[in-house]
This record gives sequence, C-alpha cells and structure tokens, in this order.
Amino acid sequence: MLDVIIIGAGPAGLTAAIYTSRRSLSTLIISADIGGQVIKTYDIENYPGFDNISGLDLISKFREQATKFGAKIENAEVKKIEPKNGTFIVSTASASYDTKSIILAFGKKPRELAVPGEEKLKGHGISYCATCDAPFYKGRDVAVIGGGSSALDAALLLSKYASRVYIIHRTAEFRGEQHLIDRLKSNPNIEIIFNTEVLEIKGDNTVTSVILKDGKEIPVGGVMVEVGYVVDRKLAEGLVNIDQTNQIIVDNRQQTSVPGIFAAGDLTQTPYKQVVISAGEGAKAALSAFDYIQKLEGKKGIIADWH
Ligand code: NAP
Repeated sequence: MLDVIIIGAGPAGLTAAIYTSRRSLSTLIISADIGGQVIKTYDIENYPGFDNISGLDLISKFREQATKFGAKIENAEVKKIEPKNGTFIVSTASASYDTKSIILAFGKKPRELAVPGEEKLKGHGISYCATCDAPFYKGRDVAVIGGGSSALDAALLLSKYASRVYIIHRTAEFRGEQHLIDRLKSNPNIEIIFNTEVLEIKGDNTVTSVILKDGKEIPVGGVMVEVGYVVDRKLAEGLVNIDQTNQIIVDNRQQTSVPGIFAAGDLTQTPYKQVVISAGEGAKAALSAFDYIQKLEGKKGIIADWH
C-alpha cells in the first residue's frame, strides 16, 4: 500500500512529489510522459530564480529533486482509478497499485482544430508542439494557428527556421502576452493574418496549403496548431466533480470532491495557467495529502496557525 500516487509528471506532479517524498510518504509518479506542456516551451523567463531557462532544463531539475528524495517514476498511462474501502486502486495496462491517496496532475492536451485534413495530416506536416518540431520546418513556409501566448511563442520560434511564418488568428486581437506581441510585430519573417479561420488543411502525403474562410488558399509546408488546451476527462469523469470545461473542482487545499483525491496544475479550475502556479498547487496538494494520511493514522496532521 503506497501513501500517494501522483498521476502526471509536469511541474504540478513533480513538485508534489518533492513535497510528499520529503515528508517520507512512499510516492509513485505514474505518467505517460515526463514534463507535460512545459517541455514544449523553449524559453521560460518568468519562473523565479531563473532569468531564462528552457522547459526541458527546468523539468530535469524538478525530476532530479523529486527522485533525490525517493519518489519513483513509472512511465505509463493510467487506465483506471477505483475507490476501495477508503483507499484506491490505480491501474495501468500492465500493473495495479493500492494507494491511500492520489494527486491528479495530468494537465491538459492540445485542442484540435477539427477541420478537414487534420486527422489525415497529423504528424505529416501538422504539429501541436513547436519546440519539438520547429527544426523540421527549416526552409518551408509555415502557418501557426491561434492567438494566445502559445501561438505567439510558436511563431517566434518557427521564424528562426521557416522561410516565412503566417500567424492566422480568428479575431483582430491577440490574447497572448504583450511583450510577445511586440516581438512578433517587429519580426520581418512573420506575417499576421487576422479575422479569419482555417477551414481546411490540404495535402496528400504532407501539408501543402491551408484554405481560409474567405476561400483564399495559402501554400504552406506545415501547420502548427496552437489553439489552447483541454482536459482529457477520461480519468476524472465519474470519479471527482468536474466543471463544464472538464476542469477538476478543488477547494483551497486542492481537495477534490472525494476525500483522499487531490488535484493540482492546469487541470484544476485555478485561473492563470503558469508553471509557477502549477508548482504551487502541487506543493499544496502534497501537503494536503500528508495531512490527510496523518489523520488516517490517528495523528494530528499539520498543525499551524490557520486552523
Ligand atoms: P489560450 O490562451 O487559451 O489561447 C488559445 C487561442 O486559440 C485563442 O487565441 C483562441 O482564440 C484560439 N482558438 C481557440 N479555439 C480555436 C479554434 N477552434 N479555431 C481557431 N482559433 C481558436 O491558449 P494558449 O495560448 O495555449 O495558452 C494556454 C495558457 O498557457 C494560457 O494561460 C497562457 O497564458 C499560458 N501560456 C503562457 C506562456 C508564457 O507565459 N509565455 C506561454 C504559453 C502559454 P480567441 O482569442 O478568439 O478565443
């Protein structure tokens, strides 16, 4: 019987693991990938303590710190979570684990455009991760779709490789950060196309063009879809309370509707999705799990002046 299973190994999950393992709770992180969305960011300038660090480097430090304190990591996808007499069984395709508590921290996945051509050309010119795939677009014209910070980041990165970057946004106002907008507007390699939508992505074996709402066809050798992220509700639905956007409802201690199940990071309702906020929620979820287990064992839990 483990003390805690953390599902997800992004900033929330790994920070939670640093805290639970440092409190000597037996901790297993199960995650389909290590790093989550943050490893897609090549340039983090707002994580305290670092002027500038890549997502990959930051997550390596988180991971090193978590495993140093004894947390174990299993690279697998969690298929099922079942409550059992006040504890839980967490199953992957090849193993099942009993645990006293769970921290859900599996983040979000990229929203798809849902237009003709997308399903067929995914991985054949259509990408959802600029940091992973930018070098593949060397010398090609590329369309970035979206108007948030992720799309702006992607366009700026791609401008270093692609011969021309079109950023296509459905309104005339970006919602990403102003300093990214300023950098974008002063980049001669990026063309902004406002007030339109991509209705189709064309190509046989690889992307050759996009069709816009006004019927215009833009020849491109790649498409970067950056239209936000959604919570995959497979695991949470029917287990804990979620809102209409599938985000997990938590209280100010990261407690979900089920005692013993906590949630942290981008999959909760907390606004302002940022690495530092996910890490903070991970720390809170971990301390709440510690408090929960202490009380299960008849101990007093965390005593502090807010009680
Ligand atoms: P986001 O802020 O939710 O923006 C999504 C963008 O995609 C919006 O501009 C939206 O258009 C557009 N969009 C949504 N559905 C669409 C569709 N079906 N077709 C066309 N366009 C569509 O997502 P994000 O940029 O991935 O950012 C997610 C979170 O991470 C945000 O909180 C962001 O601040 C944070 N983030 C921060 C940084 C940073 O700090 N540097 C970098 C990346 C991400 P509308 O504007 O018209 O709704």
